[in-house]
Amino acid sequence: DSIIQLKGVSKTYRNGSQALIDVSLEVKRGDFLFVTGPSGSGKSTFLKLLYGEECASEGEVRVDNDFPATLRGDRLSLLRRRIGIVFQDYKLISRRTVTENVSFVLWAQGYTRKEINRRLPPALKMVGLQHKAECFPEELSGGEQQRVSIARAIVGTPPLLLADEPTGNLDPDNSWQVIKILKKLNQIGITVIVTTHDESLIRLSNHPVVQIKNGRLSSVNY
Ligand code: ADP
Ligand code: ADP
Repeated sequence: DSIIQLKGVSKTYRNGSQALIDVSLEVKRGDFLFVTGPSGSGKSTFLKLLYGEECASEGEVRVDNDFPATLRGDRLSLLRRRIGIVFQDYKLISRRTVTENVSFVLWAQGYTRKEINRRLPPALKMVGLQHKAECFPEELSGGEQQRVSIARAIVGTPPLLLADEPTGNLDPDNSWQVIKILKKLNQIGITVIVTTHDESLIRLSNHPVVQIKNGRLSSVNY
C-alpha cells in the first residue's frame, strides 16, 4: 500500500523554468525518505505537488488516495489536514505563544476546546517543549522554534509529514535533534519525507534516499 505515487511527473513554471522532469516515485506507508540534491534542483517543487500548492504540468500525483491537482477549496483542505508540513523558516506566528501556535490549526478546523486541551500536551511532549508552552517564538532558540513547528504539524495526527529543509537554519546539534524527533514520529507510524542537502545528516540516519538533480530523480538507495 503506497501513500504517494508519482507517474511521469513534470513541472514547468510559467517563466519556463523546468523544476521537475519525468519523475516517477512510489512511497510506501510508514517509510522515512530523504530527498536530496543541490539548491534549485526541484526538491521544494516536489513537496508542493504533494500538498497541492502547485500542479504538475504533466503526469499524475496521488497522495493518500487523492489526486491533489484535481482538488479545490474544501476538498483540498481536507487532504491538507492529512499532511503535516514543516518549513526551513518555521513560519510561526510571532505574537502568539507556543500553545497558541500549535492549537491554532485545530481551532481553525473546528475542534472543541476539550479536544484541543487533550491533544496539546502529547504534541509538545513529543518535541520536548512542555516547559515552553507559554513562551513566544522570539524567546526560543532556532532549534526550539523548529520543534514547535513540528508539534504544530503533527497535532492533528496526520498520516504523512513533509519537511522542507527543516534543518537548513540549524547547527549540527539542533539538526540532529530535529531528525531524531522525525525518526520517533516515523516509528509511531507516520510516513516522513524530508528534503535536505546535508549529506552528513543522511549518512547518520540510515534511511532511504532519492536524489533530484536538475529536475530529474534518481534513486540512491530506495
Ligand atoms: P505570480 O507570477 O502570480 O507571482 P508565480 O508562480 O510566478 O506566480 O510565483 C508564485 C510564488 O513563487 C511567488 O511568491 C514568487 O515570489 C515565487 N517565485 C517566483 N519565482 C521563483 C523562483 N525562481 N524560485 C522560487 N520562488 C519563486
Ligand atoms: P529546491 O527546493 O531543490 O531548491 P525548487 O523546487 O525550489 O528547488 O526550484 C526548482 C527550480 O524551479 C528552480 O530553478 C527554481 O528557480 C524554479 N522555481 C521554483 N519555484 C518557482 C516559481 N514559483 N516560479 C518560477 N520558477 C520557480
